Amino acid sequence: RWAVVSLCRRLPSARSRGDSTAPWSPRFDVVVIGGGHAGTEAAAAAARCGSRTVLLTHRVDTIGQMSCNPSFGGIGKGHLMREVDALDGLCSRICDQSGIHYKVLNRRKGPAVWGLRAQIDRNLYKQHMQKEILNTPLLTVQEGAVEDLVLTEPEPGHSGKCRVSGVVLADGSTIYAESVILTTGTFLRGMMVIGLEMHPAGRLGDQPSIGLAQTLEKLGFVVGRLKTGTPPRIAKESINFDILNKHTPDNPSVPFSFLNETVWIKPEDQLPCYLTYTNPKVDEIVLENLHLNSHVKETTRGPRYCPSIESKVLRFPKRLHQVWLEPEGMDSDLIYPQGLSVTLPAELQEKMIACIRGLEKAKMVHPGYGVQYDYLDPRQITPSLETHLVQRLFFAGQINGTTGYEEAAAQGVIAGINASLRVSCKPPFVVSRTEGYIGVLIDDLTTLGTSEPYRMFTSRVEFRLSLRPDNADVRLTFRGYKETGCVSQQRYERASWMKTYLEEGISVLKSIKFSSSKWKKLIPQASISINKSLPVSALDVLKHEEVDMELLANAVPEPLKKYTTSRELARRLKIEATYESVLLYQLQEIKEVQRDEAFQLPKDLDYLTVKDVSLSQEVREKLQFSRPQTIGAASRIPGMTPAAIINLLRFVKNTQ
Ligand code: FAD
Repeated sequence: RWAVVSLCRRLPSARSRGDSTAPWSPRFDVVVIGGGHAGTEAAAAAARCGSRTVLLTHRVDTIGQMSCNPSFGGIGKGHLMREVDALDGLCSRICDQSGIHYKVLNRRKGPAVWGLRAQIDRNLYKQHMQKEILNTPLLTVQEGAVEDLVLTEPEPGHSGKCRVSGVVLADGSTIYAESVILTTGTFLRGMMVIGLEMHPAGRLGDQPSIGLAQTLEKLGFVVGRLKTGTPPRIAKESINFDILNKHTPDNPSVPFSFLNETVWIKPEDQLPCYLTYTNPKVDEIVLENLHLNSHVKETTRGPRYCPSIESKVLRFPKRLHQVWLEPEGMDSDLIYPQGLSVTLPAELQEKMIACIRGLEKAKMVHPGYGVQYDYLDPRQITPSLETHLVQRLFFAGQINGTTGYEEAAAQGVIAGINASLRVSCKPPFVVSRTEGYIGVLIDDLTTLGTSEPYRMFTSRVEFRLSLRPDNADVRLTFRGYKETGCVSQQRYERASWMKTYLEEGISVLKSIKFSSSKWKKLIPQASISINKSLPVSALDVLKHEEVDMELLANAVPEPLKKYTTSRELARRLKIEATYESVLLYQLQEIKEVQRDEAFQLPKDLDYLTVKDVSLSQEVREKLQFSRPQTIGAASRIPGMTPAAIINLLRFVKNTQ
């Protein structure tokens, strides 16, 4: 039924030419293009699921490279990392081997929205990531630039979409595969910008990807253009840290991975960060030189939540902006000035840096720069990250309009799992909005699209109290293990142990009941109000801010002591107690959303022509483009009217 042809360059394969002297073309289950944060997770996940996988990337020595900030995690992003880890992804474990300053953000708020974050040693991260990738069973790593896709189109007379069946490298060689994942980051028609100078590059020191961008456009994908930027790097010894605010790491450090109770480095050996501020002189340099700054003049959209200093000065004039001085590594001589992303000509960047307190004598080692690149409208992919246009072709990472390592890693793991499931004809693995931040990220992208670099935030998530960083394993590890095989036996057993002890611990805490006056005697520190008539459970006592499991277990050693032998278990019991009452309401809301999600829309419906449902032309066009998979997803498409949703619902019920 399927014939092998390349639609784009019509490169016939050795097999279809019948040429016995042609070199043998290798065949894999899954090809992943790109060794960045999405690509490494995708390749490792596909291999964990049992697929013979090849990772094709420009250079093996840039695998795991952090293109911009030397840090992982943060508000919302830390949640994504815990979820990637729950699916046995790599970045959290590797951060626990390479972090140099661990700090939980948002501590003033509840643990549901804490943001696990760490400064990372760039070189250590890259080394550990490369070691992991090069030693993953079933995974081959090959250097090369992919220029084209091999497509298999339906034979004449057969309807249906074309399907990807391999890739063509710059040297003309072909690699065949059952599924292909594109994770090319900022490389598609990438242009690097400093001042008025522009030249083609994916990022500093790397060639852009032109052929592949043309291929995608020829195939009919809707392409947009975005921009981002990075700050200059400063020599550490040239900074006067003595006059700046010093920020020390947390003690103890909170690890990213569920597999770890500690990280590789003690808090007292970690490095500090320092805080300084911009001033009116910085504004003056930026404003006086706008004519020398083509990146700022560009109408393409940059990251709203990680803006350049030029955007900040233009949007919020006469304000002092924070500049965090962050170490790039344990032994690195470089400091990353977070908040000072800039594309002014290099000599003006130096002048600007010298105006800032503590940086008066600072030496700029290399200038900041901007990158402009193509991205693909993410409404062209399904929640499993497969494209609507070409079967078995998956997109993940910055190519889908996101920004950030964590957003890329989260998409990578989902694309890797689904590319592998596709090979074995199994149903896709989709995380819903009610199950994880990953679900929110992908649902936002695939239903709303994005016109500026998308980053994750807790405020995008409806069910924040249930989707917490502490319980990502309970939400995703068991599904990952049973439905996909991407989770190792070791992790499954660890998560099962934790789940059993959590459930048992909560029921034991509920069963221990004393009068409030007895509790007052046992734990005088707790602000328990005296109510003589009702006994109070240990779970209710644990809800008090000043009570933790250790305090409770000292008061009632038997049977509570055993739940404090693991620091992580004790911490999680406290969090479970904190949210116990409010979660009952949230579970009800989740059930309502899940009801909508259960109404599946027909996959191949042609919304432009279907007659049995009354929809406006505008709504038809929106549905045709985004192809939502459920009524819930359809209702989130901007511009969908309640009447259109009711009509769609009736239609689905009639066709079921
Ligand atoms: P990348 O990490 O970019 O990896 C892409 C990979 O694909 C590379 O290994 C490349 O070699 C490979 N590749 C590309 N084309 C081909 C091809 N044709 N054949 C083979 N291999 C190919 N994020 C933030 O959160 N905050 C920021 O402030 C920020 N600033 C940034 C500034 C700059 C200058 C850049 C470049 C990025 C910045 N980012 C920032 C974004 C962050 O680096 C990315 O979001 C993240 O790295 C995306 O991961 P990815 O895997 O999608 O792509």
